[in-house]
Amino acid sequence: MRFGFGEPPPSLRDADVRFKRLAKQVTDGLTTAEGSIPQLSTKGQQELLRFLLSLLKDFFPVGHGLVDVQGNVLRPSQISTVSIPITARDGSRWPFEHRIRLYLSDQTGFRAAGEHYTGNFSSIRLYTRELHTATLSDAIGTSLHELIHMMFAMIRRFERYLGPIGAEGAARLLAQKPWRLVVLSGFDGHRDRLERHLLDLLRIIPIPMQAGALAASLIEEAFAAQFEVVVDEAIVRATHAKKRTRGPSILVNIGFQPKEFLKFYVLEHGFAVTDKQLNSPQALQIFQRMTSDVELLAKAIRSHLDS
Ligand SMILES: [Zn+2]
Repeated sequence: MRFGFGEPPPSLRDADVRFKRLAKQVTDGLTTAEGSIPQLSTKGQQELLRFLLSLLKDFFPVGHGLVDVQGNVLRPSQISTVSIPITARDGSRWPFEHRIRLYLSDQTGFRAAGEHYTGNFSSIRLYTRELHTATLSDAIGTSLHELIHMMFAMIRRFERYLGPIGAEGAARLLAQKPWRLVVLSGFDGHRDRLERHLLDLLRIIPIPMQAGALAASLIEEAFAAQFEVVVDEAIVRATHAKKRTRGPSILVNIGFQPKEFLKFYVLEHGFAVTDKQLNSPQALQIFQRMTSDVELLAKAIRSHLDS
């Protein structure tokens, strides 16, 4: 088959279809999520969602970068900047900035729908192939999920970067809405209990992390997952309110079964863990023992979000 001048080869045209579809799903999801804000049950949730959506608007409908199948940047991402003005006691100013880039990526070999990398800035990739059949709520849910990771990374950087002045500034900032919601120190007990299970699990499953760090990371994961549920419920309520119908308020069922929860985490982070390893009799035994602690964590995060 031959192609005329200016006509892209079929592989690029297919990629283009995937880029366009995902960009549209996220853009429409953004509008839908924005319309659901009044349906969120607390001011804190509303402010957090408003903040995340304001960042997403820097990338959708335009502004997001594109990455091709080989991982090359076809189009750079716009940079979205979160600026936090901090004034120290002596009056000196310590402006803090965190920059974010967001790409739609056509790369293969990734099993996750989205991913967040962090260094001195944040970079989010949404995978077009995994998300090609995604519903609006999956597309916006994945975007918000990765932005939640961005936010935790930003706050960690903020606390580290500014040292004593930052600590004071960070404490002040984190006492305010919506930031108060992302203070997870109240979950230390949950983290310790998870860590004990993970010490056993890491002996048989090759996740390259220490049990403590993995436990802390799973608390953040549970937060991101529960926030997705909260937003999805609000979207469903908003839809019913518009149609003046009643219906089930919970549609998403994000698994808080330990195995599914850990599997999602492993996929999102691209760790080389096989299904066989996750399903070995020893692993299943540990997951069994973890069940009640993971369920308690999920419930605690949810009531924290609803408080
Ligand atoms: Zn995650």
